[in-house]
Amino acid sequence: MIHQETRETVCRLHAELVRYNLVAWTAGNVSERVPGEDLFVIKPSGVSYDELTPEAMVVCDLQGELVEGDYAPSSDTAAHAYVYRHMPEVNGVVHTHSTYASAWAARGEAIPCVLTAMADEFGGEIPVGPFALIGGDDIGKGIVETLTGHRSPALLMQNHGVFTIGGSAKAAVKAAVMCEDVARTVHVARQLGTPIPIEQHHIDHLYDRYQNVYGQRSHL
Ligand SMILES: [Zn+2]
Repeated sequence: MIHQETRETVCRLHAELVRYNLVAWTAGNVSERVPGEDLFVIKPSGVSYDELTPEAMVVCDLQGELVEGDYAPSSDTAAHAYVYRHMPEVNGVVHTHSTYASAWAARGEAIPCVLTAMADEFGGEIPVGPFALIGGDDIGKGIVETLTGHRSPALLMQNHGVFTIGGSAKAAVKAAVMCEDVARTVHVARQLGTPIPIEQHHIDHLYDRYQNVYGQRSHL
């Protein structure tokens, strides 16, 4: 079986989605680009998280066509493929319908930068992408258009859920975990009042320190 190492990584990271309570049933998926090749590994469609093994993962080309695997690729494969085709610096993509972040998506509302952890990880708000139907390139296009030139490695696709990108699948999973975490905290903050925005120059300083000085390139 080819690309065993990437298969193992992607399989292991799906368990993280379960561990952090980001997914229900078979929703959610992780993919990672195969180093040096125009291929990526992604979760098979409709297989339960308990049954995922490295061998069950599927390998697709950057058009989203199946190259190797016993199962059909995830129904979100076209979106992942579009991102890999248009964002060469991205090596990992994650999609979830995690509860709090998806609640912001349901309102089509960006999560404002009101926590220093958000400034660190996302460099500002977590933006909203357009409403888009699954199947063609619309979701992928919405992700690329919204995140290009944006610091945030995460976005909320309106009425849908979270997509994150990273320099590795692990970085994209981290962004998905952090996205849900701040979505929940800011939601709770809203219940009793108005969260206080962080001034832009403070956001810039925090982001720069965390991404460069602190030495934790979280999404690249
Ligand atoms: Zn979805």
